[in-house]
Amino acid sequence: MTELRLILGDQLNPHHSWFDACNPNVIYVMLELRAETAYVLHHAQKVIAIFAAMRAFSSALKEKGHRVRYVRLSDGSNRGALEDNLNALVAHYGADRVVWQEPDEWRLDMQLQAWARNVSVETACVSSEHFFTTREQVSAFFASRKSWRMEYFYREMRRQHGILLTPEGEPEGGKWNFDAENRKRWSGEPPAPEDTRLRHDRTALWEEIQRCGVSTFGEPQADNFRWPVDRAEAKARLDDFITHVLPQFGAWQDAMHAEEPFLFHSLISFALNTKMLNPREVVAAAEQAWRTGHAPLPAVEGFIRQILGWREYVRGIYWSQMPGYRELNALDHHAPLPDWFWTGKTQMRCLAHAVEQSLTEAYAHHIQRLMVIGNFSLLSGLSPQAVHEWYLGVYIDAFEWVELPNTLGMSQFGDGGLLASKPYVSSASYIHKMSNYCQGCRYQYNQRTGELACPFNALYWDFFARNQARLGNNPRLGIVFKQLADMKEEERQAIAERAGYIRLHLNDL
Ligand SMILES: Cc1cc2nc3c(=O)[nH]c(=O)nc-3n(C[C@H](O)[C@H](O)[C@H](O)COP(=O)(O)OP(=O)(O)OC[C@H]3O[C@@H](n4cnc5c(N)ncnc54)[C@H](O)[C@@H]3O)c2cc1C
Ligand code: SF4
Repeated sequence: MTELRLILGDQLNPHHSWFDACNPNVIYVMLELRAETAYVLHHAQKVIAIFAAMRAFSSALKEKGHRVRYVRLSDGSNRGALEDNLNALVAHYGADRVVWQEPDEWRLDMQLQAWARNVSVETACVSSEHFFTTREQVSAFFASRKSWRMEYFYREMRRQHGILLTPEGEPEGGKWNFDAENRKRWSGEPPAPEDTRLRHDRTALWEEIQRCGVSTFGEPQADNFRWPVDRAEAKARLDDFITHVLPQFGAWQDAMHAEEPFLFHSLISFALNTKMLNPREVVAAAEQAWRTGHAPLPAVEGFIRQILGWREYVRGIYWSQMPGYRELNALDHHAPLPDWFWTGKTQMRCLAHAVEQSLTEAYAHHIQRLMVIGNFSLLSGLSPQAVHEWYLGVYIDAFEWVELPNTLGMSQFGDGGLLASKPYVSSASYIHKMSNYCQGCRYQYNQRTGELACPFNALYWDFFARNQARLGNNPRLGIVFKQLADMKEEERQAIAERAGYIRLHLNDL
């Protein structure tokens, strides 16, 4: 009996039980698919990283004695579509059975299920053995609530998995969440860690991708490529972060700086999302760093919350809400993206930095994604679907199950508050407080109206004025609406005019 086992590009988990033993009747199938490069326009580094990681994974399996059929994009035998490739390989090997690991993206899950209904070979789907939760567990958790809050989910996860708990089952340090201690502005001290990622020349792969006609955007940096594409490099990145950076992660987690794109962030999301790293080992390493006195509890708790809490939580929302979630647009926003999303050329210094960095590095950290680019997108009324497609394309770690709830839900409030209890918006004061972006910006962070007033300010107040009917009853927004009500009518009028002008001239800002 011959069995084909399909490994998708984000299923590069060398510790999956599939690989416990070599079996000559099992052939692992890995396919570079044109459709996977084209469902949105992707950043060049993302395409390079995924193909390089797939190729490295295939070589590692072969070295261990597994049979692997790897089909490159440029191979003559590549039929293009997933289904056509599978059909051809089933026929070629005379396979009796085809098995795959649970895809994380709804699109691929549907595609494989549909294919399975139309073939005569036996098919099966197994767990990817990656997440803390199964799809069924999270669906049950989310199905029982009208709206959800990450904090409750996270506490439940801490209890279930015994993480950062005292022997009595209480949270270590006496509280579940140390976020209030994690909000410092960074002014150069402690020094930002070096980017220790290894550099590789991936020019040959990049040229092959281009020869195959794949369209991309952003800087490829192929001759100086730094994303880890195999298990050893991913693990080295994790170890380096835990040893040298984690102790500072918490305090400066929300800080931004024009000269330091990465600050104290881990840069492990690509390795995690392609499953080269397992979230359990990451969480265990962080907890161990606290238990041995290497890193303080607020830093470790803050880091673990991102992985055990947010990462599993957004996945739950994705699987309980798809396919409809992608189309939600609770605030009825329809404006197209300004052109500078593709160039970074805007006079708003915060956005110029965050967008430019996204285009050069395929990376921006959480607060740049949420409180700079996402904040501006929401305040100026950009279509959440257009914003979603940009985020899904630009970031190295963007896979729909994690990107969509973060972008459409958390950042754009497109789901009307299922994920976030209030819109994540701010005026310039937050950006000024948490970064050095406002220094040297053309716009004045402390002015609301006038030609040189920071666009965030008028847009911020106008956002609430425009959405009073939808958001006015939100208890977390009481102060904002009170401040709005206390404003003089002329001030409100001037804000509305300035915001209206800005929304009509987004390309010129
Ligand atoms: C609008 C928006 C879009 C985002 N899109 C993605 C995406 O496509 N893919 C993605 O992995 N993350 C996404 N995030 C979450 C977060 O920004 C990235 O995980 C993080 O910036 C990755 O960099 P890092 O590895 O240095 O993370 P660190 O800051 O060092 O955090 C450690 C890890 O925690 C996890 N994590 C942190 N925050 C989140 C979160 N909100 N949701 C899920 N996991 C989280 C990631 O695995 C990350 O690697 C998005 C956030 C926002 C606001
Ligand atoms: S002044 Fe406004 S636009 Fe300029 S950097 Fe500050 S927040 Fe951004």
